[in-house]
Amino acid sequence: MFKGKTALVTGSTSGIGLGIAVVLARQGANIVLNGFGDTEPARSQVAEAGRVHGIRLGFHGADMSKPAEIEALMAHAEAEFGGVDILVNNAGIQHVAPVEDFPVARWDAVIAINLSSAFHTTRLAMPGMRQKNWGRIINIASAHGLVASPQKSAYVAAKHGLVGFTKSIALETATTGITVNAICPGWVLTPLVQKQIDDRSRREGITVAEAERDLLGEKQPSLQFTTPEQLGELTVFLCSAAAANVRGQAWAVDGGWTAQ
Ligand code: NAD
Repeated sequence: MFKGKTALVTGSTSGIGLGIAVVLARQGANIVLNGFGDTEPARSQVAEAGRVHGIRLGFHGADMSKPAEIEALMAHAEAEFGGVDILVNNAGIQHVAPVEDFPVARWDAVIAINLSSAFHTTRLAMPGMRQKNWGRIINIASAHGLVASPQKSAYVAAKHGLVGFTKSIALETATTGITVNAICPGWVLTPLVQKQIDDRSRREGITVAEAERDLLGEKQPSLQFTTPEQLGELTVFLCSAAAANVRGQAWAVDGGWTAQ
């Protein structure tokens, strides 16, 4: 479906970003990966997914909290792939603490990675998308972009901000072939959430399985995790011609979390 198009997925060495990159590769998009840690497993999974289409695969290790490194990432995509057609702003971190104890450096990092990075990639991708009069920007927000939880002030502020940013850019591009939408997942079992489950099990002296059950039971009525694969398939739909007039939406995939 996306042969000849290039998708940049930020934070795609793990979790949701990797899942989305795999599904886009399966649809024939060239992929630019980004993120920290061991990149080899992500590279081989994405390469395998796109092999039948002969996709091209790139990687840039920009730290998404640093505007200069984001500029280098976007310049790399321009030089190697002729720009970014599908931009998935996914990189994100979490920090859990009451506001009076919230470390200032963690606040700044959450806002920079979860919110400001999307501003930088978007402003840098936009001229190329306007020139082609085609583009898809998918911002991975969260159920926490729509409702709040205690002790996640930076994350909730960043994700609400990302939903607002999505709407604003959707309006700026409303008469063009560029669409901008957000996806708002509930719980997805990735390293980011596993850490919260492990912390809960330690804090409450319960097993990891019990902590997992309690975490879901508290917020997510389906009692099922959403999978990265499901978010990848929704991304494919939002990139398709069928979704050409879906603009500025914040689409929850949260097992009923925000219906309550
Ligand atoms: P994850 O920890 O598995 O993956 C995060 C990715 O971002 C990794 O590839 C990591 O290397 C990368 N990353 C982190 N900091 C970075 C930085 N400074 N620069 C570049 N890359 C960086 O997390 P995940 O659960 O897959 O989360 C992905 C996105 O989905 C985040 O924006 C998160 O807020 C959002 N989200 C997750 C859930 C969930 O339940 N897991 C729910 C809603 C929203």
